[in-house]
Amino acid sequence: MNTSIKRNPTREVRIGSVFIGASHPIAVQTMCATKTRDVDATFRQIVELTEAGAKLVRVACDSQNDAEALEAISGKIRQLNPELREKINLSVDLQENYRIAEKIAPFVAKIRYNPGHLHHAEPEIPWREKVRWLAETARKNDVALRIGINCGSIDPTKKAEEDPIFASALEHVEWLGEIGFDRFCVSMKDSNPETVVRINRLFAERHPEVPIHLGVTEAGVPPIGIQKTRAALEPLLFEGIGDTLRVSLTVPNERKREEVEAGLSLIRDVEAGRRTVTEGWKCAGLNIISCPSCSRVENGRFVELAMKVHEMARYAQEYPITIAVMGCRVNGPGETDHADLGLWCGPNHVNLKRGGELLGSFPYDEILGKLKEQLDRLIAERR
Ligand code: SF4
Repeated sequence: MNTSIKRNPTREVRIGSVFIGASHPIAVQTMCATKTRDVDATFRQIVELTEAGAKLVRVACDSQNDAEALEAISGKIRQLNPELREKINLSVDLQENYRIAEKIAPFVAKIRYNPGHLHHAEPEIPWREKVRWLAETARKNDVALRIGINCGSIDPTKKAEEDPIFASALEHVEWLGEIGFDRFCVSMKDSNPETVVRINRLFAERHPEVPIHLGVTEAGVPPIGIQKTRAALEPLLFEGIGDTLRVSLTVPNERKREEVEAGLSLIRDVEAGRRTVTEGWKCAGLNIISCPSCSRVENGRFVELAMKVHEMARYAQEYPITIAVMGCRVNGPGETDHADLGLWCGPNHVNLKRGGELLGSFPYDEILGKLKEQLDRLIAERR
């Protein structure tokens, strides 16, 4: 499959039973949105997504409880039939608690760390030492790393740069090179397709040897989430950039396999030479971005809320306004800073922002009305 696409000469990186980079097929991956601590639900979702065609399934892990759950999930995977077991490759998603890597590395094939999050825990330890420790942990446990940079959680020391995502990627790639670790890939994700194209092109030119994981973060609900992803990934894949990809969609748990199906369909189209979105395509008018949700989502009503925002805001389609709807405090505050109006979910309340300003926190039942008031006000001002 997909060996016919012209590919950049990146180096080969093994992640469990799958290889990315070089001339290996482009691997579609995704992430569980179940609570990691819910062992049965997460195990079921891992199996379902793998059977749908995901070569790699990521699971969030932030605590000792998550680490114990991951060990239990790994035990259940070991009991599967060998054919299915061999296809499952787990990746773990780290945030501030990078030290948890030592506990979970024996159960996974890849560890994703986010440079932006290495500045929070143990701030007295320089980030380079943390990365050195992560690389050693990866080496000891025979796992790969991903440097995963996201526009909503950028390294605070890079924010003033012209291209903070690109600058952060360069710094980490160069440091891993200095310490002699090369079993890694890089992702540079933004919610704006044009930015994704630009920074990935820049990076591929500078480091043609490093495998790239492509994706548009917070692409939102389908079908527009798929269209935004295609707007960025089609031009890149046609240029040979990209070794693995994820289509991030805001869908309920029982529809999560749609992310995998969208990724496979995108690759099939590129293989067939079909382009479905014109380069430079932009969301005309209203742009609603929303995260795909994951184990960290603070209230299970998030996906429903994101879908209701779409319905409620339909009347404002023609206005060039961005609304961000985010599932938790991790990328929520950062991503909503760049939107005209933003919602980020807490356990019982939703925070409403206008640009960088917090307007208040409201119960789930009231938030749509509050958002509509702000949307009306913004439209009146722009008129
Ligand atoms: S914003 Fe929070 S809930 Fe949404 S995908 Fe990111 S970490 Fe998960």
